Amino acid sequence: MIDQATIDAIRDAAVPPQNLLIDGTWRQARGGATQTVSSPINGEPLTTIAAGTAEDVDHAVAAARAAFSKGAWSKAEPRFRKEVLHKVADLIAAHAAELAVLGSRDNGTEIQTSIMSEPGTASATFRHSAECVDKLYGEIAPTGPAVLGMIQRAPVGVVGVIVPWNAPLMITSWKISAALAVGNSVVLKPAEDASLAVLRLAELCMEAGLPEGVLNVVTGSGAVVGEAIARHMDVDVLAFTGSGAVGRKLLRASADSNMKRVYLELGGKSPNVVFADAPDLDKAAMISAKAFFKNAGQICVTPSRLLVEESVHDDFVARVVEHAKAITVGDPLDVQTQMGAITNTTQMQTVAGFVAAAAEDGGDVRTGGTAILEETGGSYFAPTVVGSVAPKSRLFQEEVFGPVLAATPFKTEDEALRLANGTVYGLASCFWTENLSRAHRMIAGLEAGMVQVNSFGPIDNVAPMGGVKQSGNGVDKSLHAFEKYLNYKTAWVHL
Ligand code: NAD
Repeated sequence: MIDQATIDAIRDAAVPPQNLLIDGTWRQARGGATQTVSSPINGEPLTTIAAGTAEDVDHAVAAARAAFSKGAWSKAEPRFRKEVLHKVADLIAAHAAELAVLGSRDNGTEIQTSIMSEPGTASATFRHSAECVDKLYGEIAPTGPAVLGMIQRAPVGVVGVIVPWNAPLMITSWKISAALAVGNSVVLKPAEDASLAVLRLAELCMEAGLPEGVLNVVTGSGAVVGEAIARHMDVDVLAFTGSGAVGRKLLRASADSNMKRVYLELGGKSPNVVFADAPDLDKAAMISAKAFFKNAGQICVTPSRLLVEESVHDDFVARVVEHAKAITVGDPLDVQTQMGAITNTTQMQTVAGFVAAAAEDGGDVRTGGTAILEETGGSYFAPTVVGSVAPKSRLFQEEVFGPVLAATPFKTEDEALRLANGTVYGLASCFWTENLSRAHRMIAGLEAGMVQVNSFGPIDNVAPMGGVKQSGNGVDKSLHAFEKYLNYKTAWVHL
């Protein structure tokens, strides 16, 4: 929780021009180029970030490799890495208000969401990774007495991390805390639209005692900085969260360079299947709306396709529409705001384009459908519900990443599953039923990395998160996340 007075005291604080973090030093990009950062709250310039170059990436990778070889982190006692990562978690918690406000000014997330999902989750994630540092063991293979098969796990070396704008602290922390926990060095590229809180996190990591060169941050454009990381011959593993289009480029870049392992957390079009025998249809309607419109629909797992059993469809969708109409949209830094801004004007146009396409495809806009609060200069879009969305339409098939909910009826459980699985995505899913047997059939049948049953609740660090199909590969969170950043080495000791 955060109160209005705390926010108001820091909401207009000047943000100095931001630099790159390379080898423990904050420095300008080669050539000194910068990029203006505008706030989606009012469209006004907030500050600048350094427009990194391929040479900056080379420098950052060299620093990361040198730090890895030197071993102040990679070969440190696990207890040292554990202490530092705990300290990072403490510092994030101590600066939670500052980080959440800065992040919301940068990307427009409503503050009540960002305080929990951003510093809240980031701190918990660093703590989880810290706790795992001294609990990840190697293995002894089952062999006869003449030989000892030791399976060791070693850090990969230099990990490239590229993250999106929608939950920058949370997603960055999932990746870097796990990569760092097992001894790697990192070269991180935040999104152009959400670098500020991530840069502050990097400062806190240095304050916590992370040795120089272990964490490097290069801001700038995806086409320049991201591409240079992806094509770098000395980056061992690339961990990415973002769109499928960029994910494909990264796979190509890996194939064309050193065949680095590439882990992709991509988009989604998560089905939310409501059966007539849901335990509480009122609650289901309220949660369906609340979960979807959070962060203006700019969440990868957001339940964006509402599939409702025909017998309750009209009534259920009407309830969701009422909830959508009641959402308070506006200034992300007002504690009463339930839905903040769309991150930038290009994304606003994309969202509006989806509504127009949905109408052309026979969809019926039940509420919303337009930009609002234009007098603020910011990017705000009305919570939108489109009914009668056909399974072949763009709105059913493609990720909007904005507050446009697609509703479609179904008649049978088989049809519900077919519709739910009927896109290229497989990130998250949700369904509502009181029928235990049906629940297990649905869990087994849904093609998704995550299934939520009878709610769409918050998710914890104890379980993995990742997608199937074109939603990606590999997972963040849980003990399984560390696998991405480790190599196995088997030693046969002949006795
Ligand atoms: P994006 O793919 O446009 O950008 C993501 C990052 O990639 C940014 O840092 C960007 O600068 C960089 N990038 C862009 N072009 C690049 C290139 N050619 N080479 C290397 N890097 C490049 O995504 P976005 O618009 O920032 O974020 C929204 C997307 O992220 C949505 O598709 C959303 O579903 C997805 N996402 C997925 C998850 C998940 O866990 N699966 C979580 C959050 C967001």
